[in-house]
Amino acid sequence: MLYQRSSELFKEARKVIPGGVNSPVRAFKAVGGDPIFVKKAEGAYLYDEDGNQFIDYINSWGPMILGHAYPPVVNAVIEKAKKGTSFGMPTEIETEIAALAVNMVPNIDMIRFVNSGTEACMSAVRLARGFTGKDKIIKFSGCYHGHSDSFLIQAGSGAVTFGSPNSPGVTKGTAKDTLLAKYNDIENVTNLVEANKGEIACIIIEPVAGNMGCIPPKNDFLQNIRNLCNANGILLIFDEVMTGFRLAPGGAQELLGVDADIITFGKVIGGGLPVGAFGARTEIMNYLAPLGPVYQAGTLSGNPLAMAAGLAMLTELNNNKAIFESIAKKTAYLHKGIEEVLEKNQITHSINRLGSMISVHFSSEKVIDFETAATGNNDTFKKFFHGMLENNIYIAPSAFETWFITDALSYEDLDTTIAAVDKIAPSIK
Ligand SMILES: *Cc1c(COP(=O)(O)O)cnc(C)c1O
Repeated sequence: MLYQRSSELFKEARKVIPGGVNSPVRAFKAVGGDPIFVKKAEGAYLYDEDGNQFIDYINSWGPMILGHAYPPVVNAVIEKAKKGTSFGMPTEIETEIAALAVNMVPNIDMIRFVNSGTEACMSAVRLARGFTGKDKIIKFSGCYHGHSDSFLIQAGSGAVTFGSPNSPGVTKGTAKDTLLAKYNDIENVTNLVEANKGEIACIIIEPVAGNMGCIPPKNDFLQNIRNLCNANGILLIFDEVMTGFRLAPGGAQELLGVDADIITFGKVIGGGLPVGAFGARTEIMNYLAPLGPVYQAGTLSGNPLAMAAGLAMLTELNNNKAIFESIAKKTAYLHKGIEEVLEKNQITHSINRLGSMISVHFSSEKVIDFETAATGNNDTFKKFFHGMLENNIYIAPSAFETWFITDALSYEDLDTTIAAVDKIAPSIK
């Protein structure tokens, strides 16, 4: 059996870890079968516990933008670890990475580091509420901002009414302050703002959605939201946990030319260690404790190992900005190759791409929001996923995820991937 040891390990894991995993999507529930246990990874490749090698299109869900075990990052962590792994006291490296991040990202003067993207988004919303003195927030269906209560909300009964919890444990009280809008539908957002005039603290959005597959914003959608926020005293939060330091040195803000008020980060900024961050202009950041009244804290925030990994990663990206173009080109090449093969095999599909984010939807409709993303054929996706896996290509085990392209991928790897799609295409129809 190809994955025998992984299956055994999964069985053991399930005895002591709920579902055998520490984050649900890893469990393969959407595609069936047992997950693969990783032994190690290097460059563009993963190696599992059974000795199989895979080309990796997940890359830890984004952070490994330069490939796994990238030497400058690994070495920075090793050297730091020798000097102690946590102090709960200020260290110089925190200022170094903060200064570099502020320098790379347009329109943020200050940044605070936390331990995950979830924490970053949760804190950004609290800051926005504290700063504006308002309670309600608008988020978009299909956008993911981590698992904090305010974000685990689904659409309520009417488009302009409040949301309802989509996980037990989230209270109705929390849900009533989160309003759900439709991605790429400015009229819908405008109506929500009108119906809740003067009550909205912030609009939080993935400037390029990446958690319902990859969905780029339509022309002017983000600029129109910006204008709406300006006209109504609402803070705009760009959740750049996925897009930050990926789409451009300054993330989606730079690539798309729209400025948010608060920007959240995660994934790439930690170089593969647990890091999140949020930044804004001074006036807003001054609202945070210990300067201001909005409380936010963390025992391990700014941890030296995490900061060393993040600083090494951002330094590499900042010193070699050609990387962003290089990975975008590789992604375009992959797009073209897969598109040709799917067309040749007459498989209904819709491929979305922006920069180094790409997703293949088995849908006849153009995918522009959560509703259209949900029209994808999940049976086809399951067959596609397992077919790719058998051909040693690891893509996300869910149709609602972006693939994350790494610069470690060679054109030969991309050709291998396209050939695998061609090989399995007849069997996924
Ligand atoms: C991954 C992600 C998060 C959550 O980050 P975690 O580190 O998993 O908590 C938030 N927002 C976006 C856009 C993400 O992609």
